[in-house]
Amino acid sequence: MKKVAIGIDIGGTNTAIGVVDSEGNVLYERKPQMATPQKMENTHMTQALSDSIMSKYISSLTSEIKAAIEMVKQINPEIEVMGIGIGAPNANYYSGTIEHAANLPFVGVINFASMIERNFPEFKFVKLTNDANAAALGEMIYGGAKGMKNFAMMTIGTGLGSGLIVNGDLVYGADGFAGECGHVTVVPDGRVCGCGGRGHLEAYCSATGIKRTVYELLAKYNDSESPLAKIPLNDMTSRIVFDAAEKGDHVAKEVFQITGDILGRALADTVHYLSPEAIFLFGGAAAAGDYIFKPTKESMEHYLMPVFRNKVKILPSQLKESSAAILGASALIWKEMEKSRS
Ligand SMILES: [Zn+2]
Repeated sequence: MKKVAIGIDIGGTNTAIGVVDSEGNVLYERKPQMATPQKMENTHMTQALSDSIMSKYISSLTSEIKAAIEMVKQINPEIEVMGIGIGAPNANYYSGTIEHAANLPFVGVINFASMIERNFPEFKFVKLTNDANAAALGEMIYGGAKGMKNFAMMTIGTGLGSGLIVNGDLVYGADGFAGECGHVTVVPDGRVCGCGGRGHLEAYCSATGIKRTVYELLAKYNDSESPLAKIPLNDMTSRIVFDAAEKGDHVAKEVFQITGDILGRALADTVHYLSPEAIFLFGGAAAAGDYIFKPTKESMEHYLMPVFRNKVKILPSQLKESSAAILGASALIWKEMEKSRS
C-alpha cells in the first residue's frame, strides 16, 4: 500500500485540496481551487449565518476530499490515506479550532477539525495549523530543511507569517499560537499593522509593507520619473518593484534595501531567541533574490551578538510556490505519524 496524506489550505480567496505522498509528490490537486466562503457573505457576522455557511462549506469540502481520493485510487488502487492536514488562518493545533479569523465569515471559535473528522472516522489523523506553521513543516519534510532540527520559516505574502522549528518540532506555545514573528515591533509607534497594532514587522516586510515603502519613497523624493510612480496602489506587486530594480530604478533598489534592513534586524532577534541553523524565506518577495537576501543578511549580521555571527544561513524556500500550501498542510500528517511512532 502506498501511504498518502490529504492537504487542504484554506486561503482568504480559495481553498486548495490535494493528495500528496510521503516524498512530496502531489498525486492530485483540485483545479481550479474551491472557493473559500467570503466575509461579505456574513456582513453582520451573525451566528446563524455563520453556522449555515460553515455547514455548507464542510459538506462541499467533504465531497471534494472524497472525489480527490477516488481520482487517486483510479490511478493507483493501492493507496492508503493516513489523514487530513489543514492549513487555515488563526488555526489552533491543540484544539483543532479556527478562532476569530478576521477574513472569514465565521463567528467565534469553530471546531473545524472535529467537523471534518466526523465525516472521515476511518482516518487516524485530522490536524489543523496555521499556514506559516504548515509551510515550516513542509520545508522540513519535503524541502530545504530536510534533516534540520532547528530553523525558522518566514512566509512573506500579503502578511508576514512564521513557523518556528525547535528540536525537530513546531513551537506551538501554551495556547497554540506561538510564532507570530510578523507582529514583533520593529518601529515604535510606526505604521498601522493589519492586526491593529503599530510598527510591526508585517507592516514593513510583507508584500503590502513593500508597497507602502514604495509610495513613501516616491513622496520623499517627489519622484515622478521612477517607473513605479505610474503604478496605482492596487496594481503594485513585489514583482513590479523587482523588475524596476533590475532596470536600475533607485527607488526600487532602496525599497529592497530598507525592507532588508528591517527584516534582518528582526531576524537577528529570532536568532537570539532560537539559535536556528537557518532561516528560510518563502513567498513573492523572497523571489526578488539578492535584492532582498543581501541587505537582509548584512543587516542580520550587523545586529547579531558576536557569538552568532556568520553561522546562520538565510535561504530561499525549496517548496514550489504553486503547491507549497498543499505540501505544507499534508506534512502535518507525516509529522503526526512520526510522533505517534516515537
Ligand atoms: Zn501586527
